[in-house]
Amino acid sequence: MDCWKSSSELKSYVINSLNHLNIKPSQQKGQNFLVNSNIINFQVAQSNISSKDTILEIGGGLGSLTHCIVNKVKKMYVIEADRILAKFLEDTYNSVSNFEVITGDAVKIDFPTFTKCISNLPYQISSPITFKLLRHKFDLAILMYQKEFAQRFFAKPGSRDYSRLSVMINLKAKCKYLKTIKPSSFLPAPKIQSSLVTIQRKNEKLVEDETGFSQFVTLLFSHKKKIVRSVLSNTLKRKAKQSNIKIKIALEPDKYNERRIFTLSLEELIYLYNNLKMKIGEDLWSDIISQNTN
Ligand code: SAM
Repeated sequence: MDCWKSSSELKSYVINSLNHLNIKPSQQKGQNFLVNSNIINFQVAQSNISSKDTILEIGGGLGSLTHCIVNKVKKMYVIEADRILAKFLEDTYNSVSNFEVITGDAVKIDFPTFTKCISNLPYQISSPITFKLLRHKFDLAILMYQKEFAQRFFAKPGSRDYSRLSVMINLKAKCKYLKTIKPSSFLPAPKIQSSLVTIQRKNEKLVEDETGFSQFVTLLFSHKKKIVRSVLSNTLKRKAKQSNIKIKIALEPDKYNERRIFTLSLEELIYLYNNLKMKIGEDLWSDIISQNTN
């Protein structure tokens, strides 16, 4: 059954709550509240929540999404940075025992254990929150992003949008593009379009040493238009003695060394990483890679 019966019901709730609190939405905090009931109902339906789930919502706002979830699940955590909104959520659900507000910045606060994350994210924290989510185990995330940001999840090697994010998200998760959301679905309407996306963690580990691989991808993609060998050569020679024979061997031309970084697929990057690690030796390699990202 739909949670919000109509968009006018939801919009009245949002406007009345803002008036009651005597606040104006803050652009700096990404406070664009959903006023399209179809989107919230769709988001909840797609999440397939049950009484076994523990939900994490990042940026609860006025509780428009919270309201549709809290009574259907085992436990619900909401992280909200705005103290007035966090207090409003606490007061609204103070009689609901499975509900907890965590007041503060979701980028800095440790996440509780959760099975599903359902959030309309404030767009300015999309990147750190996505990388942070990927460090956690969970079943499903249904997230609203700025459209351009979400497109990077699906970007193909060689395309303009292909980035460190594209590589790392595909290493750890399967993503599905659900819908494009128009600015008019929010109050106030943002200038940009948004996208709803699902993220499902992959069970299998594609690379043994994920931390090292992540450091390697960070190193390469900070020069993503350059040739692999030139970036590696600069880094390796700077960090290890030039005369080191293993470094010399690692820099000999091979099938991926001559490619531009942004054309390499996840599988090719994994091959390159494992191959370099083998040629250089685990200790020296992890020393170089970790020094580089310090
Ligand atoms: N969930 C509501 C909805 O769907 O209408 C509100 C979503 S609104 C796009 C984003 C919310 O995130 C705002 O309530 C804002 O105050 C909150 N927020 C902004 N920065 C935050 C941060 N760093 N950590 C946690 N919450 C944050």
